[in-house]
Amino acid sequence: MPRRSARPQPDRTVDLPCHTRACPTCAGPLWSATTAKRTVVTLEGLVRLQLQIRSCRNPDCPRRGACLRPEQEGRFALPQHEFGLDVIATVGRLRHAEHRSVPEIHAELVRRGVPICARSVANLLDRYDELLALSASDTERLRRVTAAAGRVILAIDGLQPDVGHEVLWVIRDVLSGEVLLARSLLSSCQDDLAKLLREVKAALAVPIVGIVSDGQMSIRNAVAAALPGVPHQLCHFHYLREAALPVYEADRHAKVQLKKKVRGIRPIERKLEGRDDPEAEAVRGYCAAVRSALTDDGRPPLEASGLKLADRLTAVATSLDRVAAKRGSRTN
Ligand SMILES: [Zn+2]
Repeated sequence: MPRRSARPQPDRTVDLPCHTRACPTCAGPLWSATTAKRTVVTLEGLVRLQLQIRSCRNPDCPRRGACLRPEQEGRFALPQHEFGLDVIATVGRLRHAEHRSVPEIHAELVRRGVPICARSVANLLDRYDELLALSASDTERLRRVTAAAGRVILAIDGLQPDVGHEVLWVIRDVLSGEVLLARSLLSSCQDDLAKLLREVKAALAVPIVGIVSDGQMSIRNAVAAALPGVPHQLCHFHYLREAALPVYEADRHAKVQLKKKVRGIRPIERKLEGRDDPEAEAVRGYCAAVRSALTDDGRPPLEASGLKLADRLTAVATSLDRVAAKRGSRTN
């Protein structure tokens, strides 16, 4: 049925780079081939995905011209799908764990602000059942979808639309874009995840050359246990946050030390009480500048509030030095 109303504007845009830089087949450089856009309906609103697509230009490479899409795209939605995996996971949970009917699930999604019609809910339920039916024991299918590339880069994602309920674990192949295995688990302990990874590994006829995840500890341990030696790349967002942690700690420490050096603003202000001459006004201005520098916090990890404080205090000190030099007095 054609869409009869204009599609609403996306609530947010997410840039998804393609992190793989070397051709998985010939190891040569991958070039940015094109960008693509798609809009996905998620539980958190309409998300516009901006996708960077890379390809190999080596004329001798069997993968020449084959497009590699961003590794994280499949976390949002299945290929060609309008609704996000989180919506599908929710539909499946409401149906199978809470035994709700399609009209009830529809009502619940509408209540959560998901623009969806009842017929789409029934379709999503079919997709959920299909997804869960993908089994690693169907080795023929797994071998068929991974044969062309001759290797796989796995991506593992856990979708938990509602805290405290089961997690839909999806293991994809980044190179073919196919879901290899999906399972709904109540626990997400590393042993369960390692079991899933081992199932996939045992069913494949081609090597696993890499794995991409958000890097949560249970996944890391599961990967180390089930796929020893396979390079594990963290999703860049999580990776950055992780890498920034020691920097953040050092910055916080620096800020504490800096703050110790600029105590005693209040006594200076007290001494000025009752004075309104230009000098008193100037000193008050400096006090205010130091005070506001102390409370101007950056948002970690991208803004280092210690460095920011250092910058602002340096500016105040430089200005005071200039005043002192003009007066010809010694700075203190
Ligand atoms: Zn190549």
